[in-house]
Amino acid sequence: MRKLLFQGLAKPPLTEAGPTDGEIAALAAELDHLARSRLGRSLAIREVDAGSCNGCELEINALGNAFYDLERFGLRFVASPRHADVLLVTGPVTHNMREALLRTYDATPNPKWVVAAGTCALGEGVFAESYACQKGGVSAVIAVDLYIPGCPPTPTDLLKGLLALITKNTGPSGQVR
Ligand code: SF4
Repeated sequence: MRKLLFQGLAKPPLTEAGPTDGEIAALAAELDHLARSRLGRSLAIREVDAGSCNGCELEINALGNAFYDLERFGLRFVASPRHADVLLVTGPVTHNMREALLRTYDATPNPKWVVAAGTCALGEGVFAESYACQKGGVSAVIAVDLYIPGCPPTPTDLLKGLLALITKNTGPSGQVR
């Protein structure tokens, strides 16, 4: 036991170093600046899994891990839609999740943005023809302000999408279909 303890103390941490790619840091810093200038604070995001395979969630979760560590740039994932500016929706919208998506949308205060992330959320991809899914993806249920394609989209794709969202001249649509 003592041997293991000393071995552990002598070894360097297993966590990888943060990204050396300046693109990620530059994107996140720009996002933070825009969110603060347009909203007066950081961007609060509520993620909604509307029946995804969890591939998209893994990439979204990566935004908050020690590698990307995006909370330092003012990007926050919140537990309640009542605290959110953005609904980030993944998955094809299964029939079981349609009502939950609508309720989450209704619980999010206006003005709000809806981002559909991943090929399935666009109404395409491997689950598009499934008997268990809503045809047409997220936009068949609620108005979508921005699509981020990819199966799954990478953390960089997600960041670029969020940046495009708040740099658009139009405001949130706030419509239910
Ligand atoms: S887009 Fe791809 S990774 Fe995302 S939920 Fe669909 S199949 Fe899974």
